[in-house]
Amino acid sequence: MFSFKSDLSHAIQLDQNDPLSAYRNEFHIPKDASGEELIYLCGNSLGLQPKETKNAINQELEDWATLGVEGHLEAKNPWLLYHEFLTEAMAKVVGAKPIEVVVMNTLTANLHFMMVSFYQPTKTRYKILIESDAFPSDKYAVESQLRHHGIDDKEGLVLWKPREGEELLRYEDLEHILQEQGDEIALIMIGGVNYYTGQYFDLKRITNLGHNHGCVVGFDCAHGAGNVQLNLHESGADFAVWCTYKYMNSGPGSLSGCFVHERYAHAKDLNRFTGWWSHNKKTRFNMRGEFDQLPGAEGWQLSNPPILSMAAIKASLHIFDTIGIEELTKKSKKLTGYFEYLLKELNNEHISIITPSNPDERGCQLSIQVKNADKSLHEKLTQSGVISDWREPDVIRCAPVPLYNSFQDIYHMVDRLKNILNG
Ligand SMILES: *Cc1c(COP(=O)(O)O)cnc(C)c1O
Repeated sequence: MFSFKSDLSHAIQLDQNDPLSAYRNEFHIPKDASGEELIYLCGNSLGLQPKETKNAINQELEDWATLGVEGHLEAKNPWLLYHEFLTEAMAKVVGAKPIEVVVMNTLTANLHFMMVSFYQPTKTRYKILIESDAFPSDKYAVESQLRHHGIDDKEGLVLWKPREGEELLRYEDLEHILQEQGDEIALIMIGGVNYYTGQYFDLKRITNLGHNHGCVVGFDCAHGAGNVQLNLHESGADFAVWCTYKYMNSGPGSLSGCFVHERYAHAKDLNRFTGWWSHNKKTRFNMRGEFDQLPGAEGWQLSNPPILSMAAIKASLHIFDTIGIEELTKKSKKLTGYFEYLLKELNNEHISIITPSNPDERGCQLSIQVKNADKSLHEKLTQSGVISDWREPDVIRCAPVPLYNSFQDIYHMVDRLKNILNG
């Protein structure tokens, strides 16, 4: 698809021809002790801070200082409506309709709230299927939901595993599981982009498979939001959750996004936990009387939201909205393709890439498997000024983020890796 060369001048040229290269200046790039910019490839763990974030948060601090409680209505961005300022842009990022999306709570909390509604076990259909190397928090959440319903978590948990000697998951194997026990599976809950391998699943295909067997299907898109074109509405998934501190650059521990498919927008009889923020906005402050469910994803909110965190999300979403997720993924495929090309050129037996080589089956992350689980390779990379992460048992995860990583970042990263490997 692309034709790359392995010299530095080619990397410089790629940056010069990159229509998004200027966005790097909109972010704070971490530096080492001597003031040199680090090569930051950890945007899949904690995205970098947009320079505009401080202004956005300061605006709310100012309004709080000068207006106090009146800020709910009188702030420049009235707090009462604040989550609504995020909905449209967030919906575009994940490919959903505004009525299907809300920003609220934190990620694992949302996963639980979604399971309150979408995991309704019966005597015969009670199992939950996840991928075998699901993110630990998701696995713990799912196991505790099983126990909460009085189901043995070993008996109730079904794992979609890679084959012996393989790393990636195959759809044939999922089909096989569903043929055998599909009518016992109540919920399929998959990480849309696997955090470890970087495999981006075909959400629509999994949803169709699950629905054909009568299962509810939800996705944790923590590694997908802001990274790939999720097209959540199109996928037909029943629900999805994600966080905003990874590819969405909204700060440590920032809030989560939540998608509930339009077909449930008016499903008032669907079981759920509620609070005053799930109640009709027009009568919310009457503070008396019968509960009146808000339609759409907003109807799953509980509390009035933390404005300071939302201000950071607002600043970040502005960047995504200006560029558009299509443009962003276009650069992403090129940048990651370049990274893959350079790694393959090294042709070194100590490392291999476990992430799918098909650009449609991955986001920006490449997971580099290290022979004999030699962790010192990661330590030396860190010492050389490359910020990546080590994930047990034997993988270095690197995420070139198209918003702020350059082709030269990638060139220098692989150059340092080469020196370490040859060292
Ligand atoms: C990052 C991540 C989490 C973290 O959950 P928090 O509730 O935000 O701490 C959970 N699941 C997945 C798949 C993740 O990638």
